[in-house]
Amino acid sequence: MVYRVTLIPGDGIGPEVTAAARLVADATGVSIDWEIAEAGETAIERSGTPLPDGVLASIRRNKIALKGPITTPIGSGFRSVNVALRQQLDLYASVRPARAIAGEGTRFPETDLVVVREATEGLYSGVEHWVDRDHAAAETVNVITRKASDRVIRFAFDLARREHRHHVTAVHKANIMKTTGALFQTAFREMAAKYPDITSDERLIDNMCMQLAKKPEEYDVIVTTNLFGDILSDLCAGLAGGLGVAPGALYGEELAVFEPVHGSAPKYAGQDKADPVAEILCVELLLRHLGEKEAAERIFRAVWETIAEKKVVTYDLALPGYTQRPVPASSCSAMAKEIARKVPRVDLSAPLPRPRGAGHADDPHLVA
Ligand code: NAD
Repeated sequence: MVYRVTLIPGDGIGPEVTAAARLVADATGVSIDWEIAEAGETAIERSGTPLPDGVLASIRRNKIALKGPITTPIGSGFRSVNVALRQQLDLYASVRPARAIAGEGTRFPETDLVVVREATEGLYSGVEHWVDRDHAAAETVNVITRKASDRVIRFAFDLARREHRHHVTAVHKANIMKTTGALFQTAFREMAAKYPDITSDERLIDNMCMQLAKKPEEYDVIVTTNLFGDILSDLCAGLAGGLGVAPGALYGEELAVFEPVHGSAPKYAGQDKADPVAEILCVELLLRHLGEKEAAERIFRAVWETIAEKKVVTYDLALPGYTQRPVPASSCSAMAKEIARKVPRVDLSAPLPRPRGAGHADDPHLVA
């Protein structure tokens, strides 16, 4: 069987890390016909818009995409392509696993949690304006609806069940935001009552940041609104080894788009220096979504072994913080080749390499 998958290379380091991810995907033997769709700065040069209709049409047709990061101008310029893509395709659940992969040198080697972020509304709704002519006051509207809250919270509980996780934590600020926060809180409490097999609790966003920085291993699945989820998922990526190793996925009712947590890192563009692991682990998630469990597991193990060996790793994994002592840094393409070389060779009967945290160390669904 051949899978047709939309591929958005993206901006900055995007083309390099998506090329690395393709190399590793090919090494699994799963046949993927990549349909290239340009979005972001390259699309503006070619077609005058950062998000051509053809990109949305391609994803709607194929129902699945692998995406590189896309640059968003800060403060002015075109609206975020990433936000527009999520809203226009109704990709409501942004799922960002934070797993400390072979992270013996990291501060939190037991981190193994998933952030589920509502991705279509909240403070990213794009409803904002200047209040006065002098631009001395401005408003951004925080749109929270019961429908969007219910579906993302249900998604988080279903994910917990599917991945043999045990606990869901809702994060909000209902003490201050007594309408939007309270709406999300009420939706969470009512949904939690329908999942008696999964325990649950709530944290205010400020307390959650402090708790995560102290003991991330105590958290399992976190569900929250758009802005809080954006911030928390970067924090959790940092706990689990950095943005270079943090994959993500966006799910709608029918569509799925896989993209790393990190951005386009413009300062490393074209240098063959960026860590390809986050984008490669997006392929792992993509293959699990397609039901190609063995291929997905091969990628996860090949990444784990490559990071654990510390012979061919990019700069971010070669520094103290990830390793006990510094090692020479390899290029993005060299690390991708090393992972691809290992993919067909990994021993699937060996004990599962997994972080030691609260998650799913013995999860049978992950075994090929
Ligand atoms: P960034 O994630 O690009 O970079 C943050 C830091 O992490 C930088 O030091 C960068 O060099 C490093 N980094 C990121 N990815 C790395 C990798 N694979 N390997 C090694 N180091 C890596 O975030 P930023 O600088 O805030 O944003 C840059 C641009 O990316 C902005 O235009 C922003 O809007 C965009 N962005 C896009 C997405 C997306 O496409 N989903 C997500 C976040 C940011």
